[in-house]
Amino acid sequence: MKAKKELEKIVNKVLKGEIKLHELDEILGNSNIAVLVRRLSIEKMLNIQLPNIGFTTIDWNEVVGRNIENPIGAVQIPVGIAGPLKIHGNYAKGEFYIPLATSEGALVASVNRGCKAITLSGGAKVKILSDTMSRAPIFKTPSIDEALKLVKWVREHFNEVKVEAESTTRYGKLLRIDSFIIGNNVWLRFIYSTGDAMGMNMVTIATDKACKYIEEKLGFKCVSLSGNLCVDKKPSLMNMLFGRGKTVVAEAVIKENVVKEVLKTSPEDLVDVNLRKNLLGSARAGSLSFNAHYANIVAAIFVATGQDVAQVVESSMGYTWAEIVNNNDLYISVTLPSLEVGTVGGGTRLPTQRETLQILGVYGPGNPPGANAKKFAEIVAAVILAGELSLLAALSAGHLAEAHRRLGRGLSKKSKKQ
Ligand code: NAP
Repeated sequence: MKAKKELEKIVNKVLKGEIKLHELDEILGNSNIAVLVRRLSIEKMLNIQLPNIGFTTIDWNEVVGRNIENPIGAVQIPVGIAGPLKIHGNYAKGEFYIPLATSEGALVASVNRGCKAITLSGGAKVKILSDTMSRAPIFKTPSIDEALKLVKWVREHFNEVKVEAESTTRYGKLLRIDSFIIGNNVWLRFIYSTGDAMGMNMVTIATDKACKYIEEKLGFKCVSLSGNLCVDKKPSLMNMLFGRGKTVVAEAVIKENVVKEVLKTSPEDLVDVNLRKNLLGSARAGSLSFNAHYANIVAAIFVATGQDVAQVVESSMGYTWAEIVNNNDLYISVTLPSLEVGTVGGGTRLPTQRETLQILGVYGPGNPPGANAKKFAEIVAAVILAGELSLLAALSAGHLAEAHRRLGRGLSKKSKKQ
């Protein structure tokens, strides 16, 4: 009772403007209570009830200052499971169950069907072609002469710059610095390996240290630590050509009888849809991406596993290729130039996200460092292959609208009840 009165007193102070919402954690010394007071204050301010947002297993004392500011609770997104999916990667080997967080009816069922077709056909082969993370600060110089001087100096002093950058991290390794010039502007694209972390914070902190060193040595001003050639959270040819995060290929050969019995179409019809929709349609649209719906699977896995959801932008760029092999089996592959994932850092440590990573057997640091993130990237690429296969099949069989009518509008349950 006394505690309730105390809470009401603090809420009243917030409502009167004597305490700001963001000051509550520090004033109360406990973020779990601060979250409650903030939520009650918002309820009073807006004259609404928020009975659901407060239900969560998150310990706010663990999360404030790392993952969120000013929290009032958590939203809940349903998690479905697809699989088993057989994968032959260099790191992911065996059968996996895949957690997908989504509110789009039909998505989990569709991915599940793709997993079945791939697994029945012997599994997906996956290879990682490159593994890097980049930050590209922009420097301002007086003229093209000084711009070229800066580029030359960085090339000749790479080892010194590397020592500076790597002094900020145990796991980040500076691999190279690519330079780009427009007039008197110079972008230095710092490329790192980042172990099991997706690495954006790591490379930002490391590049900041390196930039300060370059500024001190040469006197040119770093105008912005991010000069948009990184390229983070925006679609770009840069990432399509040079890669960012993991560049991954997943492929499978689906036997003709599996295409017919599980996917309800034929290899020829599926190849035709891929050519005309994913390749020709995307070209006509001027799209940067030649696939059916990588973003659906990337978003569902990213949300489930605590990845940076804004990176769905570049992580879902990529190419689907399909052709007939072995006298009427279906070869299908997905190529993802820029899949940005981690198994440590960011949102991976949140309680439910940690559990979904555990379902995949990839939570936390790998041995050697980087092995877990690579295993995770291989799994994600294989699941994208399953999703792409199933959607292309549904389109070629003319089943897409019907599946969404049944699974996206509650009709499957209604018809069962009748
Ligand atoms: P982070 O949580 O900032 O850093 C990862 C941490 O894990 C580092 O402290 C690292 O050690 C440690 N670590 C332990 N074991 C490791 C292992 N095996 N491999 C790699 N690191 C290991 O995560 P991050 O991946 O660098 O950054 C992700 C976060 O950045 C996300 O929350 C994302 O939303 C955010 N983000 C930031 C920016 C930005 O500009 N700063 C941009 C986009 C996204 P060390 O300290 O020794 O390296």
